[in-house]
Amino acid sequence: MVRRAPREDSRQDAPGVSAPKTTAAGNAAVSSIAEEVVGKLGVKRSALTLLSLNQKKGFDCPGCAWPDPDHRHTFEFCENGVKAVAEEATPRRVDVEFFAEHPVSELAERTDYWLGQQGRLTEPMLLEAGGTHYRPVSWSEAFSVIAEELAAMSSPHEAVFYTSGRTSNEAAFAYQLFARKLGTNNLPDCSNMCHESSGAALSETIGIGKGSVLLDDLYQSDLIVICGQNPGTNHPRMLSALERAKREGARIVSVNPLPEAGLQEFLNPQRPGSYIGKGTELADRFLQLRLGGDQALFAALGSLLLAAEDKVPGAVLDRPFLDEHTTGFAAYAEHVRSLDRDEVLRATGVPWSQIEELAEEFISAKSAVVCWAMGITQHRDAVATIREFVNVLLLQGNIGRPGAGVCPVRGHSNVQGDRTMGIWEKMPDQWLDRLGAEFDFQPPREHGLDTVDTIRAMRDGKIRVFMGMGGNFVRATPDSDLTESALRSCALTVQVSTKLNRSHTVTGRRALILPTLGRTEKDTTGGQEQVVSVEDSMGVVHGSRGKLRPASSQLRSEVGIVCGLAERVLGSDDVDWCAMAGDYAVIRDHIEAVVPGFTDYNARVAVPGGFVLPHGPRDSRTFSTPDGKAHLTVNVLRPLEIPEGRLLLQTIRSHDQFNTTIYGLDDRYRGISNGRRVVFVNPGDLHDLGIADASYVDLVSEWRDGDRRAERFRVVSYPTAKGCAAAYFPETNVLVPLDSVAETSNTPTSKAIVVRLEPVP
Ligand code: SF4
Repeated sequence: MVRRAPREDSRQDAPGVSAPKTTAAGNAAVSSIAEEVVGKLGVKRSALTLLSLNQKKGFDCPGCAWPDPDHRHTFEFCENGVKAVAEEATPRRVDVEFFAEHPVSELAERTDYWLGQQGRLTEPMLLEAGGTHYRPVSWSEAFSVIAEELAAMSSPHEAVFYTSGRTSNEAAFAYQLFARKLGTNNLPDCSNMCHESSGAALSETIGIGKGSVLLDDLYQSDLIVICGQNPGTNHPRMLSALERAKREGARIVSVNPLPEAGLQEFLNPQRPGSYIGKGTELADRFLQLRLGGDQALFAALGSLLLAAEDKVPGAVLDRPFLDEHTTGFAAYAEHVRSLDRDEVLRATGVPWSQIEELAEEFISAKSAVVCWAMGITQHRDAVATIREFVNVLLLQGNIGRPGAGVCPVRGHSNVQGDRTMGIWEKMPDQWLDRLGAEFDFQPPREHGLDTVDTIRAMRDGKIRVFMGMGGNFVRATPDSDLTESALRSCALTVQVSTKLNRSHTVTGRRALILPTLGRTEKDTTGGQEQVVSVEDSMGVVHGSRGKLRPASSQLRSEVGIVCGLAERVLGSDDVDWCAMAGDYAVIRDHIEAVVPGFTDYNARVAVPGGFVLPHGPRDSRTFSTPDGKAHLTVNVLRPLEIPEGRLLLQTIRSHDQFNTTIYGLDDRYRGISNGRRVVFVNPGDLHDLGIADASYVDLVSEWRDGDRRAERFRVVSYPTAKGCAAAYFPETNVLVPLDSVAETSNTPTSKAIVVRLEPVP
């Protein structure tokens, strides 16, 4: 019996508002999980899935990339992990009848939430040119449609192969090989919009674009500074790690424009005390910084550490480390010693005394870790900001020793793994050399398109075929109206998906939906149970084995889709796609030959818990920079000037959301229920602007090419930093100009949009 979701878009956007919470998880999280279990999964599927979720012989959570502790709890998940699983394991189906009932034009009017609640896709669907409805199509016909369009290209660079961070290592490796065998490096991915800035800054300063911290380092650290991150919603199991670090004596500092419940008090459901409200206060300090103020903050911290060293030479800086392992100290010191304090105060919006207190935390800490997420990476000067993080850590030798290091916390479960597998438009020549040697061909060397450049190319009519491996491209990207019309310029759009989303309603002249297996489902491609692997935010690679029977017998795995398509388009002359699809161990053997750090891949991924990838700076203070040194850098401060009567807006997630997937319409921690079109504004700003709490406004962003509008948001008076507002994406991605990007990384500046609020009735 096919279960159907409610057809009407019942819950219109009428947000309820109550006081924000100061505690995270606890009973509310448990009842939220119970709701998912009873409401969506049912007891049997819950047992099958939740007892395997994040277990060593189970499957990896399709949610975020937070690592698993060596000792796993029976219930090794958070409420948002359960929501992610429930979305995948839902018994609801989007099948042929559904598509016959709903024309694309109607689906395009539906909310993201409604589309996501319709359930799992069941078979390949084709939208013919000029068609109004998707119709079923065989896999073979689907591959032929793609092959036809690829063959019609005058250059392989007219095709783009986008990847969302849920794609497994094996599928990602096969996907990049297919694209490069076709002759293009057009491999944009969701990392372009999240931690690209981290990769750029870390590669330049320490020689590797990944974090150096493992869970044990957090437990052993004296000081953990968390910048521009809301772990309570986006990496909830991080709260357990912070609680343990706290119990081991760590000091925790939150640096954020918003007071997030997750960093105030954590009621750990794994602890009986939490059920009677006995939690753990996490942050010892909260610096409520202005958006984009982190670069100035850390530059000031550097100047204060130097000043303290001047007073008591040898008491603060790790001179032996600086002398032996770094370069650039003199220029850096001269720069930060000449910092303009007023400029720092204008940029940070916090009193100097708070900056001094944080400097004291670094001075008295024997080891320190800096963690960050999108609140840092999605700014014009994100790369400079992360370089300042590295500067401060290098001063005291806080890298390459226990309890210390850099910790960019990744969003999507395998976004780091995909990059390691070659999903990048500009892989280094040595990597491409090894790929060419392994498969006996000349990989393309011309750098490809990242996400923002892909949208520009589509806008300019240069892209014929767009293929999305998972994700929801039109909702994850900036400048929604422009992006949607750009995507419509393609001859063919192909979406490999598990569930319905808006990217299925914004199509090229023809469109295909290719339904794939979820992480929770058994993968028996090639007639045997297959294991896939992923890499978490801390560089730990481990296996994942689905447990559930697939939602439909017509689903194919991501690997099966890529290899089937590649065989149809390229044939199996020099790459045995069939063998790779038949046994993923064959893919891993190829990965072992091409990707550094994957020696004995098949043997090591079979070990419960997997293995840790090498990291030169962490493992041996080896820095693979051109001169073999870690780099202290000079970063000129350029505080954003906000015109009178304007605010700086950041786009954020609600607690009932993972990236562009909307699980529900509530945001429990911020006191929002049954609605998403809200804008959080500081009460002082409302007074200055003469706008009433609970009134309605249009949000209008101002850019050199004109205004962009997001209509009718309910104003919520909220304790955000003065001058800084916040609202949910994807609804406000329409406000982010395509050309408003971070320097070097080309990441959209979704955390710093100049807006005006226009009252509406
Ligand atoms: S913390 Fe992240 S990976 Fe862990 S269960 Fe929650 S969503 Fe999944």
